[in-house]
Amino acid sequence: MACVTLKNLYKRFDNVVAVNDVNLEIQDGEFLVLVGPSGCGKSTTLKMIAGLEDVSEGEIYIGSRNVTHLEPKDRNIAMVFQNYALYPHMDVYHNMSFGLKVRKVDPPEIDRRVQEVSRILGIEELLKRKPKQLSGGQMQRVALGRAIIRNPDLFLFDEPLSNLDAKLRVKMRFEIARLHKNLKCTTVYVTHDQVEAMTLGDRIVIMKDGVVNQIGSPLEVYDYPANRFVASFIGSPEMNFIDGNLVREAERLKFISDDGCVTLDLGAKRLARDASDGVVLGIRPEHIRLSSKTEGPAYVQIEVVEHLGFQTMVMGRTGCVQITALVDRMESLQYGARAGIEMDPALIHLFDRQSGISLNCG
Ligand code: ATP
Repeated sequence: MACVTLKNLYKRFDNVVAVNDVNLEIQDGEFLVLVGPSGCGKSTTLKMIAGLEDVSEGEIYIGSRNVTHLEPKDRNIAMVFQNYALYPHMDVYHNMSFGLKVRKVDPPEIDRRVQEVSRILGIEELLKRKPKQLSGGQMQRVALGRAIIRNPDLFLFDEPLSNLDAKLRVKMRFEIARLHKNLKCTTVYVTHDQVEAMTLGDRIVIMKDGVVNQIGSPLEVYDYPANRFVASFIGSPEMNFIDGNLVREAERLKFISDDGCVTLDLGAKRLARDASDGVVLGIRPEHIRLSSKTEGPAYVQIEVVEHLGFQTMVMGRTGCVQITALVDRMESLQYGARAGIEMDPALIHLFDRQSGISLNCG
Protein backbone atom coordinates (compact mmCIF):
# COMPACT_ATOMS: atom_id res chain seq x y z
CA MET A 1 0.00 0.00 0.00
CA ALA A 2 1.08 3.58 -0.43
CA CYS A 3 0.37 7.19 0.42
CA VAL A 4 -0.96 9.46 -2.32
CA THR A 5 -0.19 13.14 -2.85
CA LEU A 6 -2.05 15.56 -5.08
CA LYS A 7 -0.16 18.82 -5.66
CA ASN A 8 -1.90 21.89 -7.10
CA LEU A 9 -4.07 19.71 -9.32
CA TYR A 10 -6.19 21.33 -12.04
CA LYS A 11 -8.46 19.96 -14.74
CA ARG A 12 -9.87 22.31 -17.36
CA PHE A 13 -12.43 21.34 -20.00
CA ASP A 14 -12.64 24.34 -22.38
CA ASN A 15 -14.31 26.99 -20.18
CA VAL A 16 -15.02 24.70 -17.21
CA VAL A 17 -12.51 24.40 -14.37
CA ALA A 18 -13.64 20.98 -13.14
CA VAL A 19 -10.84 20.62 -10.57
CA ASN A 20 -9.38 23.81 -9.15
CA ASP A 21 -6.06 23.68 -7.29
CA VAL A 22 -6.68 20.52 -5.27
CA ASN A 23 -4.01 19.62 -2.72
CA LEU A 24 -4.30 16.37 -0.74
CA GLU A 25 -2.04 14.15 1.34
CA ILE A 26 -3.64 10.72 1.66
CA GLN A 27 -1.95 8.60 4.30
CA ASP A 28 -0.82 5.02 3.82
CA GLY A 29 -3.82 2.79 4.67
CA GLU A 30 -6.25 5.70 4.94
CA PHE A 31 -9.86 5.58 3.67
CA LEU A 32 -10.46 8.99 2.13
CA VAL A 33 -13.87 9.95 0.76
CA LEU A 34 -14.39 12.65 -1.88
CA VAL A 35 -17.95 13.91 -1.50
CA GLY A 36 -19.99 16.73 -2.97
CA PRO A 37 -22.96 17.50 -5.17
CA SER A 38 -23.18 16.54 -8.83
CA GLY A 39 -20.59 18.37 -10.94
CA CYS A 40 -18.29 19.29 -8.03
CA GLY A 41 -15.29 17.57 -9.67
CA LYS A 42 -14.95 14.47 -7.47
CA SER A 43 -15.07 11.92 -10.32
CA THR A 44 -12.65 13.95 -12.43
CA THR A 45 -10.21 14.04 -9.48
CA LEU A 46 -10.50 10.25 -9.12
CA LYS A 47 -10.04 9.70 -12.86
CA MET A 48 -6.87 11.80 -12.82
CA ILE A 49 -5.49 9.66 -9.98
CA ALA A 50 -6.38 6.57 -12.04
CA GLY A 51 -4.79 7.98 -15.19
CA LEU A 52 -8.09 7.89 -17.08
CA GLU A 53 -8.12 11.67 -17.46
CA ASP A 54 -5.15 13.88 -18.39
CA VAL A 55 -3.97 16.41 -15.82
CA SER A 56 -4.16 20.08 -16.96
CA GLU A 57 -1.73 21.24 -14.28
CA GLY A 58 -0.19 19.84 -11.08
CA GLU A 59 1.29 16.54 -9.96
CA ILE A 60 0.15 13.19 -8.58
CA TYR A 61 2.39 10.93 -6.49
CA ILE A 62 1.66 7.35 -5.42
CA GLY A 63 4.25 6.64 -2.74
CA SER A 64 7.39 8.40 -3.95
CA ARG A 65 6.59 7.80 -7.66
CA ASN A 66 5.44 10.74 -9.74
CA VAL A 67 2.65 9.06 -11.74
CA THR A 68 1.19 12.24 -13.28
CA HIS A 69 1.86 11.13 -16.83
CA LEU A 70 2.00 7.33 -16.40
CA GLU A 71 -0.44 5.02 -18.18
CA PRO A 72 -3.19 3.61 -15.89
CA LYS A 73 -1.69 0.11 -16.17
CA ASP A 74 1.64 1.35 -14.79
CA ARG A 75 0.15 2.91 -11.61
CA ASN A 76 -0.69 -0.34 -9.76
CA ILE A 77 -4.17 0.79 -8.80
CA ALA A 78 -7.48 -1.06 -8.80
CA MET A 79 -10.76 0.66 -9.53
CA VAL A 80 -14.33 -0.33 -8.71
CA PHE A 81 -17.05 1.43 -10.70
CA GLN A 82 -20.75 2.05 -10.23
CA ASN A 83 -21.61 -0.25 -13.16
CA TYR A 84 -19.27 -3.07 -11.96
CA ALA A 85 -17.72 -3.35 -15.49
CA LEU A 86 -17.54 -7.17 -15.35
CA TYR A 87 -16.76 -9.11 -18.54
CA PRO A 88 -20.19 -10.59 -19.48
CA HIS A 89 -18.82 -13.66 -21.31
CA MET A 90 -16.52 -14.76 -18.45
CA ASP A 91 -17.59 -16.60 -15.31
CA VAL A 92 -16.79 -15.17 -11.87
CA TYR A 93 -13.54 -17.16 -11.58
CA HIS A 94 -12.22 -15.75 -14.86
CA ASN A 95 -13.48 -12.25 -14.16
CA MET A 96 -11.45 -12.27 -10.95
CA SER A 97 -8.37 -13.96 -12.37
CA PHE A 98 -8.14 -12.11 -15.71
CA GLY A 99 -5.92 -9.28 -14.45
CA LEU A 100 -3.46 -11.75 -12.93
CA LYS A 101 -3.37 -13.82 -16.12
CA VAL A 102 -2.54 -10.71 -18.16
CA ARG A 103 0.32 -10.05 -15.73
CA LYS A 104 1.51 -13.64 -16.33
CA VAL A 105 1.14 -14.78 -12.72
CA ASP A 106 1.60 -18.59 -12.37
CA PRO A 107 -1.71 -20.51 -12.65
CA PRO A 108 -1.39 -22.23 -9.23
CA GLU A 109 -0.81 -18.83 -7.59
CA ILE A 110 -3.81 -17.41 -9.49
CA ASP A 111 -5.96 -20.26 -8.23
CA ARG A 112 -4.77 -19.78 -4.65
CA ARG A 113 -5.61 -16.07 -4.77
CA VAL A 114 -9.05 -16.58 -6.36
CA GLN A 115 -9.93 -19.09 -3.62
CA GLU A 116 -8.63 -16.81 -0.87
CA VAL A 117 -10.39 -13.66 -2.10
CA SER A 118 -13.68 -15.44 -2.85
CA ARG A 119 -13.57 -16.82 0.71
CA ILE A 120 -13.03 -13.30 2.14
CA LEU A 121 -16.02 -12.01 0.16
CA GLY A 122 -18.24 -15.07 0.64
CA ILE A 123 -18.62 -15.77 -3.09
CA GLU A 124 -17.03 -19.29 -3.28
CA GLU A 125 -20.36 -20.72 -4.48
CA LEU A 126 -20.57 -18.28 -7.40
CA LEU A 127 -17.26 -18.96 -9.17
CA LYS A 128 -18.82 -20.78 -12.13
CA ARG A 129 -21.62 -18.28 -12.74
CA LYS A 130 -21.68 -15.61 -15.46
CA PRO A 131 -22.45 -11.98 -14.44
CA LYS A 132 -26.02 -12.17 -15.80
CA GLN A 133 -26.73 -14.97 -13.29
CA LEU A 134 -25.78 -12.70 -10.34
CA SER A 135 -27.74 -10.17 -8.29
CA GLY A 136 -26.53 -6.56 -8.05
CA GLY A 137 -24.94 -7.17 -4.65
CA GLN A 138 -23.17 -10.32 -5.89
CA MET A 139 -21.85 -8.47 -8.96
CA GLN A 140 -20.52 -5.73 -6.71
CA ARG A 141 -18.75 -8.36 -4.58
CA VAL A 142 -17.14 -9.85 -7.68
CA ALA A 143 -16.02 -6.37 -8.76
CA LEU A 144 -14.50 -5.90 -5.30
CA GLY A 145 -12.82 -9.30 -5.57
CA ARG A 146 -11.33 -8.45 -8.93
CA ALA A 147 -9.89 -5.30 -7.37
CA ILE A 148 -8.37 -6.80 -4.21
CA ILE A 149 -6.95 -9.92 -5.89
CA ARG A 150 -4.31 -7.81 -7.62
CA ASN A 151 -2.89 -6.51 -4.36
CA PRO A 152 -2.72 -2.94 -5.67
CA ASP A 153 -1.04 0.07 -4.05
CA LEU A 154 -4.31 1.95 -4.12
CA PHE A 155 -8.06 1.29 -4.39
CA LEU A 156 -10.27 3.76 -6.20
CA PHE A 157 -14.05 3.54 -5.87
CA ASP A 158 -16.41 5.60 -8.03
CA GLU A 159 -19.95 5.57 -6.54
CA PRO A 160 -19.77 1.76 -6.20
CA LEU A 161 -23.07 1.38 -4.34
CA SER A 162 -25.30 3.70 -6.39
CA ASN A 163 -26.99 0.90 -8.34
CA LEU A 164 -28.02 -1.07 -5.27
CA ASP A 165 -31.29 -0.73 -3.37
CA ALA A 166 -31.23 1.04 0.00
CA LYS A 167 -31.01 -2.12 2.15
CA LEU A 168 -28.24 -3.72 0.09
CA ARG A 169 -26.35 -0.42 0.06
CA VAL A 170 -26.18 -0.48 3.86
CA LYS A 171 -24.99 -4.12 3.80
CA MET A 172 -22.30 -3.50 1.16
CA ARG A 173 -21.19 -0.36 2.99
CA PHE A 174 -20.60 -2.50 6.04
CA GLU A 175 -18.68 -5.05 3.94
CA ILE A 176 -16.45 -2.40 2.37
CA ALA A 177 -15.72 -0.97 5.84
CA ARG A 178 -14.86 -4.45 7.16
CA LEU A 179 -12.70 -5.22 4.13
CA HIS A 180 -10.78 -2.01 4.66
CA LYS A 181 -10.24 -2.76 8.35
CA ASN A 182 -8.80 -6.17 7.39
CA LEU A 183 -6.74 -5.18 4.35
CA LYS A 184 -5.77 -1.67 5.52
CA CYS A 185 -5.59 -0.60 1.88
CA THR A 186 -5.19 3.03 0.90
CA THR A 187 -8.56 3.94 -0.58
CA VAL A 188 -10.06 6.92 -2.36
CA TYR A 189 -13.83 6.65 -2.54
CA VAL A 190 -16.14 8.98 -4.48
CA THR A 191 -19.77 9.46 -3.51
CA HIS A 192 -22.46 12.12 -3.51
CA ASP A 193 -24.04 10.47 -0.46
CA GLN A 194 -23.03 12.18 2.77
CA VAL A 195 -24.13 9.18 4.88
CA GLU A 196 -21.72 6.93 2.96
CA ALA A 197 -19.02 9.55 3.39
CA MET A 198 -19.62 9.88 7.14
CA THR A 199 -19.76 6.14 7.80
CA LEU A 200 -16.85 4.99 5.63
CA GLY A 201 -14.26 7.74 5.66
CA ASP A 202 -11.33 8.14 8.02
CA ARG A 203 -11.37 11.63 6.53
CA ILE A 204 -13.82 13.34 4.20
CA VAL A 205 -13.00 15.88 1.50
CA ILE A 206 -16.00 18.08 0.70
CA MET A 207 -15.85 19.62 -2.77
CA LYS A 208 -17.89 22.27 -4.53
CA ASP A 209 -17.31 23.74 -8.00
CA GLY A 210 -13.94 21.98 -8.26
CA VAL A 211 -12.68 23.46 -4.99
CA VAL A 212 -11.98 21.61 -1.74
CA ASN A 213 -14.12 23.31 0.92
CA GLN A 214 -13.03 21.26 3.93
CA ILE A 215 -11.00 18.18 4.86
CA GLY A 216 -11.54 16.46 8.18
CA SER A 217 -12.76 13.43 10.08
CA PRO A 218 -16.53 12.81 9.88
CA LEU A 219 -17.15 14.30 13.32
CA GLU A 220 -14.86 17.28 12.71
CA VAL A 221 -16.82 18.33 9.64
CA TYR A 222 -20.13 17.67 11.43
CA ASP A 223 -19.13 19.63 14.56
CA TYR A 224 -17.04 22.37 12.95
CA PRO A 225 -18.21 22.97 9.37
CA ALA A 226 -15.89 25.53 7.78
CA ASN A 227 -18.68 27.26 5.90
CA ARG A 228 -22.39 27.26 5.25
CA PHE A 229 -22.09 24.94 2.25
CA VAL A 230 -20.36 22.21 4.28
CA ALA A 231 -22.83 22.74 7.12
CA SER A 232 -25.77 22.20 4.80
CA PHE A 233 -24.20 19.28 2.92
CA ILE A 234 -23.16 17.23 5.95
CA GLY A 235 -25.96 16.06 8.24
CA SER A 236 -29.42 14.75 7.55
CA PRO A 237 -31.97 16.26 7.85
CA GLU A 238 -30.16 19.40 6.75
CA MET A 239 -29.13 22.15 9.17
CA ASN A 240 -31.63 25.01 9.63
CA PHE A 241 -30.47 28.48 8.61
CA ILE A 242 -31.89 31.81 9.82
CA ASP A 243 -30.68 35.17 8.45
CA GLY A 244 -30.18 37.89 11.02
CA ASN A 245 -27.83 40.20 12.85
CA LEU A 246 -25.75 40.17 15.99
CA VAL A 247 -25.93 42.86 18.61
CA ARG A 248 -23.59 43.15 21.53
CA GLU A 249 -25.09 44.23 24.84
CA ALA A 250 -22.35 44.70 27.42
CA GLU A 251 -20.44 41.41 27.22
CA ARG A 252 -23.42 39.46 25.87
CA LEU A 253 -24.09 38.59 22.26
CA LYS A 254 -27.62 38.56 20.95
CA PHE A 255 -28.96 37.21 17.64
CA ILE A 256 -32.04 38.84 16.10
CA SER A 257 -33.51 37.33 12.93
CA ASP A 258 -34.29 39.65 10.00
CA ASP A 259 -38.03 39.20 10.53
CA GLY A 260 -37.66 39.75 14.29
CA CYS A 261 -39.34 36.42 15.07
CA VAL A 262 -36.26 34.79 16.60
CA THR A 263 -34.18 36.45 19.28
CA LEU A 264 -31.57 34.44 21.02
CA ASP A 265 -29.23 35.31 23.84
CA LEU A 266 -25.88 33.76 22.93
CA GLY A 267 -24.30 34.76 26.22
CA ALA A 268 -20.54 35.24 26.13
CA LYS A 269 -20.15 33.22 22.89
CA ARG A 270 -16.81 34.08 21.31
CA LEU A 271 -16.42 34.49 17.57
CA ALA A 272 -13.38 33.73 15.45
CA ARG A 273 -13.93 36.91 13.43
CA ASP A 274 -16.48 39.70 13.01
CA ALA A 275 -19.18 39.36 10.37
CA SER A 276 -18.89 41.88 7.53
CA ASP A 277 -22.60 42.48 7.09
CA GLY A 278 -25.13 40.28 8.82
CA VAL A 279 -24.93 36.65 9.82
CA VAL A 280 -26.69 33.36 9.23
CA LEU A 281 -27.49 31.31 12.30
CA GLY A 282 -27.28 27.55 11.79
CA ILE A 283 -28.80 24.93 14.07
CA ARG A 284 -29.06 21.21 13.35
CA PRO A 285 -32.58 19.72 13.61
CA GLU A 286 -31.36 17.30 16.31
CA HIS A 287 -30.11 20.23 18.41
CA ILE A 288 -33.49 21.97 18.68
CA ARG A 289 -35.62 21.30 21.74
CA LEU A 290 -39.34 21.91 21.73
CA SER A 291 -41.17 23.21 24.77
CA SER A 292 -44.71 24.13 25.75
CA LYS A 293 -43.63 27.76 26.29
CA THR A 294 -45.32 29.27 23.23
CA GLU A 295 -44.60 32.88 24.11
CA GLY A 296 -40.80 32.59 24.33
CA PRO A 297 -38.22 34.35 22.15
CA ALA A 298 -38.59 31.67 19.44
CA TYR A 299 -41.43 29.36 18.52
CA VAL A 300 -42.54 27.15 15.65
CA GLN A 301 -45.98 26.89 14.09
CA ILE A 302 -46.18 23.16 13.37
CA GLU A 303 -47.07 22.19 9.79
CA VAL A 304 -45.95 18.57 9.53
CA VAL A 305 -45.30 15.90 12.17
CA GLU A 306 -43.56 12.67 11.15
CA HIS A 307 -43.40 9.88 13.73
CA LEU A 308 -40.23 7.92 12.88
CA GLY A 309 -40.44 5.52 15.82
CA PHE A 310 -37.96 6.54 18.48
CA GLN A 311 -37.78 10.09 17.12
CA THR A 312 -40.30 12.61 15.84
CA MET A 313 -39.57 15.02 13.00
CA VAL A 314 -41.38 18.33 13.13
CA MET A 315 -41.51 20.86 10.32
CA GLY A 316 -43.02 24.26 10.64
CA ARG A 317 -42.58 28.01 10.37
CA THR A 318 -40.80 30.43 12.59
CA GLY A 319 -41.78 33.80 11.19
CA CYS A 320 -40.60 33.72 7.57
CA VAL A 321 -38.29 30.74 8.06
CA GLN A 322 -38.98 27.03 7.56
CA ILE A 323 -37.64 25.04 10.52
CA THR A 324 -37.08 21.30 10.97
CA ALA A 325 -36.63 19.77 14.41
CA LEU A 326 -35.74 16.16 15.20
CA VAL A 327 -36.77 15.42 18.76
CA ASP A 328 -37.21 12.38 20.98
CA ARG A 329 -40.50 10.61 20.39
CA MET A 330 -43.32 13.08 21.15
CA GLU A 331 -46.75 11.67 20.51
CA SER A 332 -48.53 14.76 21.80
CA LEU A 333 -47.39 17.03 18.94
CA GLN A 334 -50.27 18.26 16.82
CA TYR A 335 -50.48 19.76 13.35
CA GLY A 336 -51.24 23.48 13.61
CA ALA A 337 -50.08 23.73 17.22
CA ARG A 338 -47.44 26.14 18.38
CA ALA A 339 -44.34 25.02 20.31
CA GLY A 340 -41.51 26.97 21.87
CA ILE A 341 -38.01 26.40 20.45
CA GLU A 342 -34.94 26.16 22.65
CA MET A 343 -31.46 26.24 21.20
CA ASP A 344 -28.30 25.74 23.22
CA PRO A 345 -25.87 28.58 22.28
CA ALA A 346 -23.01 26.06 22.43
CA LEU A 347 -24.59 24.12 19.55
CA ILE A 348 -25.26 27.13 17.38
CA HIS A 349 -23.25 27.90 14.25
CA LEU A 350 -22.83 31.41 12.94
CA PHE A 351 -21.78 32.15 9.36
CA ASP A 352 -20.84 35.37 7.64
CA ARG A 353 -23.82 36.18 5.43
CA GLN A 354 -21.72 37.36 2.48
CA SER A 355 -18.93 34.79 2.38
CA GLY A 356 -20.64 31.90 4.20
CA ILE A 357 -17.47 31.37 6.26
CA SER A 358 -17.98 30.06 9.79
CA LEU A 359 -17.57 32.61 12.57
CA ASN A 360 -17.41 29.91 15.27
CA CYS A 361 -14.19 29.32 17.15
CA GLY A 362 -12.85 25.87 16.15
P1 ATP B 1 -21.35 13.49 -10.69
O1 ATP B 1 -21.62 13.10 -9.27
O2 ATP B 1 -22.57 14.04 -11.39
O3 ATP B 1 -20.62 12.46 -11.48
P2 ATP B 1 -18.87 14.92 -10.20
O4 ATP B 1 -18.77 15.69 -8.93
O5 ATP B 1 -18.21 13.62 -10.22
O6 ATP B 1 -20.39 14.80 -10.62
P3 ATP B 1 -17.35 15.56 -12.52
O7 ATP B 1 -17.88 14.43 -13.33
O8 ATP B 1 -15.97 15.44 -12.00
O9 ATP B 1 -18.33 15.89 -11.32
O10 ATP B 1 -17.48 16.89 -13.38
C1 ATP B 1 -17.00 18.14 -12.93
C2 ATP B 1 -17.31 19.21 -13.97
O11 ATP B 1 -16.57 18.93 -15.16
C3 ATP B 1 -18.78 19.26 -14.38
O12 ATP B 1 -19.12 20.60 -14.57
C4 ATP B 1 -18.81 18.49 -15.67
O13 ATP B 1 -19.87 18.94 -16.50
C5 ATP B 1 -17.45 18.82 -16.26
N1 ATP B 1 -16.95 17.73 -17.12
C6 ATP B 1 -16.66 16.48 -16.74
N2 ATP B 1 -16.19 15.76 -17.79
C7 ATP B 1 -16.19 16.58 -18.85
C8 ATP B 1 -15.81 16.45 -20.22
N3 ATP B 1 -15.32 15.31 -20.70
N4 ATP B 1 -15.94 17.53 -21.03
C9 ATP B 1 -16.42 18.70 -20.55
N5 ATP B 1 -16.79 18.89 -19.27
C10 ATP B 1 -16.68 17.86 -18.43
